[in-house]
Amino acid sequence: MSQKLSRRGFLGCACCAAVSVGIAGRLPAFAAEGARTNLTPDQALETLKEGNRSFKTDSPVRAVQGRERRLEIARGQTPFATLVSCSDSRVPPELLFGRGLGELFIVRNAGNTVDTAALGSIEYGVAQLGVPLVVVMGHERCGAVEAAVKVTENASYPGSIGRMVEPIVPAVIAAQREGGDLLQAAVRANVRRTVSRLRTASEPMLLEPLRAGKLRIVGASYDIDDGSMDFFDEG
Ligand SMILES: [Zn+2]
Repeated sequence: MSQKLSRRGFLGCACCAAVSVGIAGRLPAFAAEGARTNLTPDQALETLKEGNRSFKTDSPVRAVQGRERRLEIARGQTPFATLVSCSDSRVPPELLFGRGLGELFIVRNAGNTVDTAALGSIEYGVAQLGVPLVVVMGHERCGAVEAAVKVTENASYPGSIGRMVEPIVPAVIAAQREGGDLLQAAVRANVRRTVSRLRTASEPMLLEPLRAGKLRIVGASYDIDDGSMDFFDEG
């Protein structure tokens, strides 16, 4: 794995020191057997659901953080879930799921789409860190999805924003056929499309653990009014 990564030129990857160690030709210490979460995919999903229930009800959440935790994970991370989430300031995954340091491996961009960088990050989390669960998470009243809706009405956006929301447009078109609240339907269609793509069109490093039952990829939509996470397309 480390050799593959080094061949692909993952120099300067900010997410972990493991890659640069791998480039030197040695396995990173925390990629050794055992340095992974021991949660199953189902347990990982239930942990997120429990955390969100606590968040939603304003229960005191004891997220793992602070000096002791920092030292515990300083030598290596063992996250139990990868989140593909929106950049929206109202949807920080750690808070919504009551999680702390070293628990979630997160990809965020406006519209929670999966480009090459996002896909590589997801694959890295699964293959190198042993993450058993990937959650693609959209949210209510998403500005990026709304921008994609407007693209279908001939709006255009400056800079890279138009290109950024382009991958969401097919989800909007699918949602237009469904009827009902277009924006919310498009949010969910955008998540479903990404989940489907990750399940079927990725490299073996996701497909093999999926087939072996060591990985689940699920969708979710966050209600920004009441704080609840609606998991769907759980596979
Ligand atoms: Zn958003």
